[in-house]
Amino acid sequence: MRVLVSGGAGYIGSHTVVHLTAAGHDVLVVDNFGNAKPAVMARLDALTNTHIPVHAFDLTDRDKTERLFATEQVDAVVHFAGLKAVGDSVQRPLDYYENNLQSTFSLLRAMRRHGCSTLVFSSSATVYGDQAPLPYREDYEPLQANSPYGRTKVMIETVLRDVAHIDPSWRIAVLRYFNPVGAHPSGAIGEDPQGIPNNLMPFIAQVAVGRRDRLRIFGDDYPTTDGTCERDYIHVEDLAYGHVAALNRIASTDEPIRTWNLGTGRGTSVLELVKAFERASGMPIPYDIVGRRTGDLPASWADPTRANEELGWVATRTVDDMCADTWRWQSQNPNGYEDV
Ligand code: NAD
Ligand code: UDP
Repeated sequence: MRVLVSGGAGYIGSHTVVHLTAAGHDVLVVDNFGNAKPAVMARLDALTNTHIPVHAFDLTDRDKTERLFATEQVDAVVHFAGLKAVGDSVQRPLDYYENNLQSTFSLLRAMRRHGCSTLVFSSSATVYGDQAPLPYREDYEPLQANSPYGRTKVMIETVLRDVAHIDPSWRIAVLRYFNPVGAHPSGAIGEDPQGIPNNLMPFIAQVAVGRRDRLRIFGDDYPTTDGTCERDYIHVEDLAYGHVAALNRIASTDEPIRTWNLGTGRGTSVLELVKAFERASGMPIPYDIVGRRTGDLPASWADPTRANEELGWVATRTVDDMCADTWRWQSQNPNGYEDV
């Protein structure tokens, strides 16, 4: 299939481009490079041994999105493009609602007009909110995220269900990711956050490589095994492959829309991740325990049974693999794509 990957220069998108290409798909990317570096595209060409065409524009622009579909054959869209930082979304909610919703509307309209009805959408475990019982299951309702970012995901999921309801020719996969970490095993592509990382794994990696002095662990008095928060970390390579599996599935089904969790089904605490990273890198990760971060849940992990059974997809990589691959990327690219 000819697959348009929106946000394909970003962290998860870039890894998915490699997997889609390996699976025989013909991939093109659209990205505004708001949170990605153009240098990633040369790395993708080298990793895929082909040229991945990229259209550099903002998907909130309906005319440009329409023009792309008018000039390129597109059989399916994998839609990663969006703003994704929870704290940032609290500070500038309008930017988040406008970017994430409008980019999706532009895509949906252009797809409809040009007869493209196959879509894979990046949702998030954050849609489960703070009331859902563990492990999170796809049939849980009501979805109620706790940040503007999370609410954009709930809203887009709602929009997708409404359009699929009225037009059953849609084939839509909604994928709820848990905590993506890790990097391509070559070390050529990985997560390259701008400024101070908000997320745990990139922060640990930057401490290990000497870019930051110490990690701050937000709270050790949670009702968990060691008092620090537990998350379902999933290797970005497993996650990327999940998109190939979802595309295969929706291409051969008559269900207009279906939701799958992509997680491992296991929780790992902050301290466990720190220790695993020290083992993988051989570097000490000095840390201080500080107060809780507002909005953090004690624990979050998936029930991945539906994806296991229906997509034939299982996350196979361990926390040690996640740390080893993150470290390879970080140590080979201490300043991310800035080094290119
Ligand atoms: P990312 O920021 O690395 O990638 C997103 C890409 O989209 C970036 O390259 C950015 O430049 C591009 N983009 C954003 N808005 C755009 C627009 N209007 N037009 C064109 N390009 C645009 O983020 P990621 O970690 O790869 O996440 C990808 C998707 O997965 C996002 O939708 C995110 O919300 C979702 N997700 C991520 C996580 C995570 O922890 N990384 C967890 C759950 C869900
Ligand atoms: N965390 C931390 N220090 C950091 C960043 C994160 O202790 O510098 C903790 C955070 O409190 C949470 C876990 O690590 O318990 C995962 O945080 P992340 O932001 O990576 O993911 P999310 O909270 O979105 O699941």
